[in-house]
Amino acid sequence: MNCGLSRTTRATINLSNLKHNLSIARQNVADAHCMAIIKANGYGHGMVPIAQALSDNGSGADAFGVACLEEAISLREAGIAQRIVLLEGFIRADDLNFIRGYNLEPVIHSHHQLEILEADNGKPVQCWLKVDTGMHRLGFPVNEAKDAYQRLMNCESVAKPLHMMTHLANADDRDDMFTQQQCIQFKQLVDELGFDDEKSIANSAGILGWNQLCPNSHGQWLRPGIMLYGVSPFIDSHAEDHKLKPVMTLSSELIAVNHYKKGDAVGYGGIYQCEEDMPIGVVAIGYGDGYPRHAASGTPVLINNKEVTIVGRVSMDMITVDLRECADAKAGDEVILWGEGLPIEDIADSAGTIGYELLCGVTTRVNFVYKDE
Ligand SMILES: *Cc1c(COP(=O)(O)O)cnc(C)c1O
Repeated sequence: MNCGLSRTTRATINLSNLKHNLSIARQNVADAHCMAIIKANGYGHGMVPIAQALSDNGSGADAFGVACLEEAISLREAGIAQRIVLLEGFIRADDLNFIRGYNLEPVIHSHHQLEILEADNGKPVQCWLKVDTGMHRLGFPVNEAKDAYQRLMNCESVAKPLHMMTHLANADDRDDMFTQQQCIQFKQLVDELGFDDEKSIANSAGILGWNQLCPNSHGQWLRPGIMLYGVSPFIDSHAEDHKLKPVMTLSSELIAVNHYKKGDAVGYGGIYQCEEDMPIGVVAIGYGDGYPRHAASGTPVLINNKEVTIVGRVSMDMITVDLRECADAKAGDEVILWGEGLPIEDIADSAGTIGYELLCGVTTRVNFVYKDE
């Protein structure tokens, strides 16, 4: 349950920025199809409203990618009609009943799955063969991929033509040439198989940083995730460097402004001591809402369009901020924690994490408000 009546901790989700970000993915790679990645509750934004916003005729996503069956089924139950790819595939033979019933497309990455498909004689399922070109998480190694491809092609329970994909491990670092090696390996395999159907390599970092390296041929599918939500996928840039606009703005309000004396310690453990007599603001947000407990003193927050910083430890429901630079701030003023006006990349950096984790971690106590201009 959230505290929507009295507590104004809010995630405002800007759906027009979401659509703008999808159009940036399309602009980067001409003629490609877009599989919008909306796993993990749409990276914490609400999977169904995100899918609905990206279902507009013409400019929407061509398919959706999710991690597991449960996510795919919630999309179908909400009336989403696009193709849906199960990025982790399936694990049990029974899962194929759901895959057929809900018309889903599993990724096939293991011998275990191959054996289940070979033992099955139901109606053909559209599958994506996943090749491991260096991520070493899921997929057939390149030297086993041809055999896996042939076995799938011989399987009556598998729809033809097959689709193929791989996943990039280091694309977030634009100086790391491992990405190039992965793309070359995938292209060689595709060429050797004479494969000319749907294939997919690029996540957000691949789309924005490496698209010239990937085979720009017929049937290319992009798999944008984090960029759709207006966050840079790279270790060294901000969203706006790529013309991306933030989708989630996390905000709350000041619930108290207190005045302490020089040397007074603030919060659990007293890790911050007032440098002089000074005003300290208390903001109604904490790790119980998904604000990272590891955000260090010095992490910025935005009050009345002015950046001030966190002092002391993040608690479950509250944080404390240094108001010396914002003397007119008062209880009830809005505080922005990340999003419009305050890049989430900076908050992630201060908390020793990445934007992905912050977005996925926003809890159900926060009120979600969707707007579309
Ligand atoms: C999550 C995921 C993506 C999207 O990655 P981003 O870095 O968020 O763009 C693409 N492909 C696969 C297989 C994934 O698991």
